[in-house]
Amino acid sequence: MKNINVVEPLFVSTFKCIGSECRDHCCKGWDIHLDKPSVNRYLKSSLIEIKMLAAENIITTRKSFASWGTMKLNEAGNCAFMDENRLCKVHSRLGATALSNTCATYPRAANTFKYEQQKTLALSCPEATRQLLASPDAMLFAETIRLQKEENKAKDLVQEKKLLNLMCLNIIKFSGTNLDEGFYALASFLLGAEKIRPEDEWLVEIERHFSEALNALAQGHIRQQLDQIKPDHNLQWSLLLRLQSWFSTMADKRAFPTLNHYVNKLIFIQAEGAKTDDVSQSMIRLNEVWQNQVMPWFAERPWIMNNYIQYRIYDDFFPNDENRNPLLSLYLLTAEWFLLKSLIAANVELVGKLDEEDIINIIYSYHSITKHTPQSVVAFLAEINKVKVNDDLSLIYLVK
Ligand code: SF4
Repeated sequence: MKNINVVEPLFVSTFKCIGSECRDHCCKGWDIHLDKPSVNRYLKSSLIEIKMLAAENIITTRKSFASWGTMKLNEAGNCAFMDENRLCKVHSRLGATALSNTCATYPRAANTFKYEQQKTLALSCPEATRQLLASPDAMLFAETIRLQKEENKAKDLVQEKKLLNLMCLNIIKFSGTNLDEGFYALASFLLGAEKIRPEDEWLVEIERHFSEALNALAQGHIRQQLDQIKPDHNLQWSLLLRLQSWFSTMADKRAFPTLNHYVNKLIFIQAEGAKTDDVSQSMIRLNEVWQNQVMPWFAERPWIMNNYIQYRIYDDFFPNDENRNPLLSLYLLTAEWFLLKSLIAANVELVGKLDEEDIINIIYSYHSITKHTPQSVVAFLAEINKVKVNDDLSLIYLVK
């Protein structure tokens, strides 16, 4: 028996699927992979209805033990096991234990290391998003020690990476509603971390850069530096255009109609700006809405977007992605934040008010489209990367 440290944010511990009450249930619009035992269980079920539905609708792929088959979706894009009340027939007829691994665990997921498991939820589930944004305490962490029968085969957690992740999380937490300052402070911190030399004592140096970042935030130095930066409207404009065109290729994906509802508002504002032959007009318009209408609304609910960015840092184990350097990871995260801000601001500009439901819709549909598979994450981030000019530090032109 080996101990494993299990880390879990509060909103993960308290999550409950709301089933038929869900605004966009997860049994549609994407590949539903069934593991081998589940495929066999359904095909051999003693319940004739389950057996027949399985025989007609499971495509046996035998790709792997975990992906032995996929479900055919009906004309409405729904899983064939879903009934007219939007409830799963496997669950209602055979019980929760008969669900395939994917169906039983979604939206739960975990980042597992040899002696640590970091539990999380996929935000493509609207209820998970709602719970993340609903409470100031949603990103409070609990840690418990559990026994695992044997050591798992995952990689060991590098303690320096965990510390870096926690420091980034705390910088964002400290920035409160001023996430632009939080991103800028992260950039200074990661630049400092990059300059630590092999002969330096890493722990001493990283703690120094961390304290400097927090002090710069607390004393208003980050704000002063940000105020001196001129936004790059052309960069912002091109990024939004490129991402809009990428989204248009995702029309058959779950939650696309929801995301498209908001993307269309952004397209409208950009199109109006384009009529003036000055692309900066629509960027200025969106920024004014953000400053004058959205920020005062967030000031009364300071945890909402801060929880979201804390989640991203935790869920991505930011900035430790093995395929890119920390500053590029920050660039990509900042670009995603800029896109979400623009979608929120465009909606407020055209609808005249901000509603928490819109924020939930934007975030869950955005995650459904961009974060559903490792391939979709890579493809989406590659789009952002194409717009990047100069170096990774051009991200500062997006936080303004
Ligand atoms: S998307 Fe989330 S709340 Fe909705 S049915 Fe699926 S797990 Fe439940």
